[in-house]
Amino acid sequence: METPDLATPLSDRLEEGLSRIAAVLRADDWSRAKAVQLNPTQYAILVHLQGRPSGLGIKDIAFQLGVSQPTTTDSVAALERKGLVVRHTDLADRRAVHVRLTADAETALQAARSVPGHAHEAVAALDRAGQEKLLLLLIAMIRQLQETGAIPIQRMCASCRHFRPFVHADAARPHHCTFVDASFGQQDLRIECREHEAAAPASRAATWDAFAKGIQTLQA
Ligand code: SF4
Repeated sequence: METPDLATPLSDRLEEGLSRIAAVLRADDWSRAKAVQLNPTQYAILVHLQGRPSGLGIKDIAFQLGVSQPTTTDSVAALERKGLVVRHTDLADRRAVHVRLTADAETALQAARSVPGHAHEAVAALDRAGQEKLLLLLIAMIRQLQETGAIPIQRMCASCRHFRPFVHADAARPHHCTFVDASFGQQDLRIECREHEAAAPASRAATWDAFAKGIQTLQA
């Protein structure tokens, strides 16, 4: 048996843990996709288009989901045949064709989400403090992946031009969102926000520094 002092490095064991959770998330997505007669890629496309009323181009969808453009094109064509997406000309750029959800897709997504997920249950079993810590760790990891170019900019507060971290003295609601002009707390930080507008790289870096500094002060 492997003794604790011969164990693999901590970062390797964390990666092992994340890989177990990723497997459960994939299985949960399979179950949800199957419940609405879709394959996982088609389901992922619907999820990704939700909250984007003007839709996205094929290239963007492929980039965001990390799948090839031909696979995305085939999946969008299948979704179109099922009446779950429509293609339309982007008003801002008449040469660009965007894909957006239909009302039937919103219904299908609602049905898929009613299928219980094991990962969701595991997160719900954590206490409030544990959930908040996990949220901060996830934000830090996603931000790192964004900054190294491994994934595109996600629609989370940490990369949003409306985010003002730790500008209020109220420890329960230290952050401010200029889009809704309201303060909010750590537990309300978004990873996927419809109103997100990406900040310029320099401002994103300054915002992250202020956010990370505030978190460090809280944890000291
Ligand atoms: S608009 Fe959304 S992402 Fe941006 S700061 Fe407000 S809540 Fe966060």
